[in-house]
Amino acid sequence: MNSLNMLEEATNSDVKSVWEKCCSLIKEQIPGPSFRTWFNPIEPIKIENGNIFLMIPNQFFIEWLDGRYSELIKSSLLSVYNQELNVSYVVKDQLSQQIALEENISQPVYSIPKTPSQGYDVDLSKFDTFLNSRYTFDNFIEGNGNKFAKAAALAVSEKPGKTSFNPLVIYGGAGLGKTHLIQAIGNYVRQHHPTKKIAYVTSENFTNDFVIAIRNDKVQEFSRLYRNFDILMVDDIQFFADKGKTQEEFFHTFNTLHQMGKQIVLTSDRPPKELKHVEERLISRFQWGLVTDIQPPDLETRIAILQKRSEEDGVYLPPDVCEFVAMNITTNIRELEGSLIKLLAYASISNTELTLDLAKSVLKDTIAIKKKNLSIDMVQKTVASYYNIPEDMLRAKTRKKEVVEARQICMYLIKEILGSSLKTIGLHFGGRDHSTVIYACKLVDEWMTANPKIKDDIEIIKRKIELAGY
Ligand code: ADP
Ligand code: MG
Repeated sequence: MNSLNMLEEATNSDVKSVWEKCCSLIKEQIPGPSFRTWFNPIEPIKIENGNIFLMIPNQFFIEWLDGRYSELIKSSLLSVYNQELNVSYVVKDQLSQQIALEENISQPVYSIPKTPSQGYDVDLSKFDTFLNSRYTFDNFIEGNGNKFAKAAALAVSEKPGKTSFNPLVIYGGAGLGKTHLIQAIGNYVRQHHPTKKIAYVTSENFTNDFVIAIRNDKVQEFSRLYRNFDILMVDDIQFFADKGKTQEEFFHTFNTLHQMGKQIVLTSDRPPKELKHVEERLISRFQWGLVTDIQPPDLETRIAILQKRSEEDGVYLPPDVCEFVAMNITTNIRELEGSLIKLLAYASISNTELTLDLAKSVLKDTIAIKKKNLSIDMVQKTVASYYNIPEDMLRAKTRKKEVVEARQICMYLIKEILGSSLKTIGLHFGGRDHSTVIYACKLVDEWMTANPKIKDDIEIIKRKIELAGY
């Protein structure tokens, strides 16, 4: 056995750990959504004859990984493994797609009717009326967290069924724009490919219609109807959980449409792999195309969304109010919009001007809940790291100028952000008296008016704290 073989033998058992280490290097160098889209689905198989074999979900990954990440993968492997490795890809679903084709042979071959079936109360024309014309690509603000999902959605809209993004699965937390994006696809296709038959349904609608069809002995019609679409969009597929019969029907619909090159777009509140009580064969199909996520928006994106919404509504949103709302409502765009509407409504009903003070008082409760995750500790940590001083110096007796200033700014920020009592703040700084805290807050206020640099510093620290806090 030569030394290369020995090395391989030794490491093969932990090809997983080689790949994991490699991934942690890669993760540092590319944006989170790209990493999750392209690297999370990869499964390492073995190392053999100077090759590392990686299993990927479909052919499309090869193009993408080779085109963009081959150097990065190679260099990361080299630094982890200390030997150059060739990367060989194995496509996972070549096998399962083959099985799927065979499974389908035993299925009845559906003839697609030229006109929707008679006597069945779900008809084709009903579907795209579920599209809300408000949801378009034009008014979908792009940011780092949703850029990739938007690009994929747009690609699918331009060439439905003709890209490798089939199905396109978009997942992410509540209120992050999944429904907006999937409906934007529908609206785009309706406008640019008017002959295409579009269906937008929530998985709950699909289930309900299916149950009605069973009850009325119209399952065949139901199946035929769904298999007649050029684009099928199903929102919130997590609600298919535990609905065995519906899942089976959807499975066959999926297969038929996919085989005919029709486009399928799905959304979910979690990655397909983590869907509970959904059949394995469905989950595997969900991963045939492209699975991509939407992440919470960053501050700039939140500001842009608020500006766009207020412009649409034709109202003036003062910059400080806009920033205040964007800084404080961070994880859900629906809530962000909700807060804006609440503010505008309040200002208009009470016939007052929309000012920062008004915003603070109207959104007091909403924001108080958000602040729960912030702590004095966290503010101290952030300030210490910003000024590059050890955290315990903030609490110690040191009178060094930089430390004193950082300490005073920290006290000010705790008061401002957390609203803690002067006594509590004092206690968290080595038992200082409340008058010291009052003095600090007053001083920082003065600095901020007199010195724009300090004001900027404080703004930056605030953002850092805000980001760490949610
Ligand atoms: P989800 O389906 O992920 O729960 P929605 O698509 O219903 O979220 O989005 C919630 C609200 O936020 C909608 O009014 C939507 O128009 C808006 N929204 C979400 N993302 C964006 C964005 N990137 N730009 C503009 N508005 C957005
Ligand atoms: Mg939704």
